[in-house]
Amino acid sequence: MGSKGVHTLKMLGCVLVYCLLVCAPVARAQDVGNTPIDDINHLLATKQYDTAESKALLLLEQALQKNDVSADLFFNLGVRLQNASRFEASKALFNAALERYTQEGDLQSMASALLHLGIAERQLTHYTSAFSFVRRAMSIAQIERNRELKAKLQLELGILHQAQDEIEIALEPLKEALNYFRDINDINQTSNCLLRIGDIYSLLNQTTLAQTYYQDAFNAVDPLNDKRLLGIIKTRIGALQLKSGSNDLAMKSISGGLELLLAANDDSAIAQARLLMGKALVENGDIVKGRALLQEAMSFANSSGQAKLVRESRLALAEAFLKEQDFKQALYHARIGTVDARKNRQLREQLSFLSVQLSAYVSLGEFKKALDIQSVIQQLREAMLDSQNKNAIEGLQAEIELVRQSRTLEKLQESKQLALAQAERQRLQTTLFWSISLASLLLLFLVWSRYKQREQTILLRREVRQQTLSLQEKNSELEQAYKTLEEVSLRDPLTGLYNRHYLESQLPGEVKRSQFAAKQQSNTSSEKTDLLCLLVDIDHFKRINDDYGHIAGDKVLSAFAQILKNVFRQTDLIIRWGGEEFLVVCRQSNREELPELAERCREMVATSAFDVGLNDPISITCSVGFSLLPPSSNGSENFDEVWAHTFAVVDYALYAAKLSGRNGWIGVVETYDKQGENRTALDNKFNFPSSRIVTSFNNIASITWPETPEE
Ligand code: GH3
Ligand code: MG
Ligand code: MG
Repeated sequence: MGSKGVHTLKMLGCVLVYCLLVCAPVARAQDVGNTPIDDINHLLATKQYDTAESKALLLLEQALQKNDVSADLFFNLGVRLQNASRFEASKALFNAALERYTQEGDLQSMASALLHLGIAERQLTHYTSAFSFVRRAMSIAQIERNRELKAKLQLELGILHQAQDEIEIALEPLKEALNYFRDINDINQTSNCLLRIGDIYSLLNQTTLAQTYYQDAFNAVDPLNDKRLLGIIKTRIGALQLKSGSNDLAMKSISGGLELLLAANDDSAIAQARLLMGKALVENGDIVKGRALLQEAMSFANSSGQAKLVRESRLALAEAFLKEQDFKQALYHARIGTVDARKNRQLREQLSFLSVQLSAYVSLGEFKKALDIQSVIQQLREAMLDSQNKNAIEGLQAEIELVRQSRTLEKLQESKQLALAQAERQRLQTTLFWSISLASLLLLFLVWSRYKQREQTILLRREVRQQTLSLQEKNSELEQAYKTLEEVSLRDPLTGLYNRHYLESQLPGEVKRSQFAAKQQSNTSSEKTDLLCLLVDIDHFKRINDDYGHIAGDKVLSAFAQILKNVFRQTDLIIRWGGEEFLVVCRQSNREELPELAERCREMVATSAFDVGLNDPISITCSVGFSLLPPSSNGSENFDEVWAHTFAVVDYALYAAKLSGRNGWIGVVETYDKQGENRTALDNKFNFPSSRIVTSFNNIASITWPETPEE
């Protein structure tokens, strides 16, 4: 119940304060005859911020009740308060405007209100709600397809990220905004974007890039129109110079910027510039002057509720005291700063304040406390790693993981490619190996086959040669065999003389040759062109066989043949005609030789001793019948007839010789066409008109002619 009472009392107090503070100025304004808006504007221009803020809030209260103030009025007032760094108050006005705009369904204006709410929340370091406002505005910009609004929101988004130390993330929306503002030729916004990008690079310690962006921003600004922006840029350039240790240059830039900002009447920017200037002076050893500026900045930040600026100023102040070796003051500010930063969960700032504390304690020789601070710092660092930077670390880890994975992928790809390449190489090598092997084998085979072929050829040649030789041998053997066969078939085995087959094969040619030769030559008897035919028969041979045996008869036959060979010439054909009958044809002879030849034969046989294997040799005789071959020149041309006729003549003559007493000869030397007077039985038998018959017997008349049966 007590707490309720206290609450009621507080409420009453508030109302009272309201009445005192708000009602009086309103009355005064009304006195001047201005609208409440003009009044507030005047208060803001004269830097009576607290009063202006109160009046604005009162106006808002009244307007909300009466519902007679336009949304735009709230909005514009909000902007003015925001420019005066009265962020809490501006929020109230923007909220009111937003409500009205929402009721009216004015999306465009809703988005503007949301953007300014976002800016206010950011200034008050309420980043989560700041983001939420900006996002809401962004979705409207998307729906409306309002590029300008989108660019403004992106600029704010970049600033928001930067405020939260999300520096890299901040760059992208800032650059997008820059592109748009450049496109539509909005000089101030372009310059603003350039300035913010410069801030990012400055935070990233890319001093040259930051310098370039600041310079571009500076060049882009219209110096007559926007002294505020120009002042801010100059201050930032100074901050950059301070960072790189060019203190004199930095002070020059900052004081230039400060001058411009003072003219522009932007207290927030002025406060920031004073902070920087203070830092620069401290760095330069002008500590008292520097400290004064830092104090000023801090009180302004305090009054405008810019907690971050307060802490920044306090830190710079603490560091200044440390430098001045006023450790107590340094500790004082450092402790307050530490608590403040801890409340606002600003780990980095906490660390900075703790570092000042640590230095101060060490300098004061309070080592126990220093050690305590040291362990807190350690914990904070760990906490920072563990929690606050968790996201960053996670992001980083994710990035690292991404890189790692992409590396792994690359490696995998590489190794895959490598494996593929190796496989390809392996395949090529294998192919090459097999190709070479195959080629070698083929070559080897070719060489081998060539060698074999040569060998084969040599062998074949040898074989052929041998075959040829053996064939030749065989041939000659065959020839020999044939010859032998021929011999055998043409010769009589017992006597070695030709048989009647041989005569039959030879005689036709001989007869023709003889007849031809006879025709060529004139009928001169001296020419040896005649063929002579003699038939020789052993007398009573049967008795020899009977008396001495058949073998003895054979021996006689052989010996008889030998005698014939001796009697006749080698060129004469000596034929064993059969049994003990022999026929001799003498070539290239003369008919006149006939009696002589017959006689020589008869004589030789009769005078020779024939060994029959007995103690004493035996004697034999023979009879001969002969004729010219053919007997008459006007006979038949047909060989068979010629031969048959001739043989018949010689056989008849031989028979006559046998009948006439044996061991003698009878023959026809020649025949004549002219009819003779004393024609013999032979002439009659063979129808010779006349003939010259010769004999070894006494005379022709003594010849006993064989009887021929009368036909
Ligand atoms: P001619 O005086 O009338 O001729 O009386 P020949 O005994 O000689 O005549 P013939 O024709 O009567 O007898 C021939 C004999 O010759 C008959 C035969 O036994 C014998 N003879 C025939 N060929 C051979 C042979 O090759 N060897 C032997 N040892 N005797 C043969
Ligand atoms: Mg006989
Ligand atoms: Mg006989």
